[in-house]
Amino acid sequence: MSVNFIKVNVEKLLREIPREVGLVAAAKTRTPEEVKAAVDAGIRIIGENYVQEALQVRSHMSRDISFHFIGHLQKNKVKKAVEVFDLIETVDSVEIASEIDKRSRNISKVMPVLVEVNSAREINKNGIMAEDAEGIMRRLAELSGIRVMGLMTMGPLDPDPENIRPFFKETKKLFDHIASLGIPQVQMRWLSMGMSDSYRVAIEEGSNLVRVGTGIFGERT
Ligand SMILES: *Cc1c(COP(=O)(O)O)cnc(C)c1O
Repeated sequence: MSVNFIKVNVEKLLREIPREVGLVAAAKTRTPEEVKAAVDAGIRIIGENYVQEALQVRSHMSRDISFHFIGHLQKNKVKKAVEVFDLIETVDSVEIASEIDKRSRNISKVMPVLVEVNSAREINKNGIMAEDAEGIMRRLAELSGIRVMGLMTMGPLDPDPENIRPFFKETKKLFDHIASLGIPQVQMRWLSMGMSDSYRVAIEEGSNLVRVGTGIFGERT
């Protein structure tokens, strides 16, 4: 897509989205040039689904740009991931959290993470179930190499955002519940929900971090 197309989209989104809501540019399959156009237009957070793509893009960016991992993290990619990313949004098991913890401690880092919730309870979808969240949070709280900073959810794939709203609502409820427990080392700072077709509804339901791909870069080919 042209630099100007990307610029217009980013500027429009930044005008529309409330100041306290973070805008993540979901950059999968985009070229470093496209991502750079988004950054030049005001994007400060880039979301990557693949560690390798992030490495490539990152080498083109200045240091003040933050990188979020938003894909499904495999254990053999964790070592690289903890070097490249500023936040991992998709922790969905104690096992992967333990690996992040170990690899982070090896490089004297404390890795901020979000826990992914399978809010639509879909088979073959990543994320933990709401009823397991409290127990998992208490275990993650013991890992000194990670810091839980909130929750992330995808919700069901549905072109009508009104059909996703109930799942955003449930995830916000869970977010508030976890926050009310006051678990040491567990902060509920970020609630990552909403994509190109659903970010407005997600923000209405309490999201403060939205992940937008096609709404910035156009349709993926
Ligand atoms: C691709 C992707 C997005 C953005 O999706 P769009 O519909 O292109 O805005 C958001 N979150 C995750 C996890 C993604 O993989």
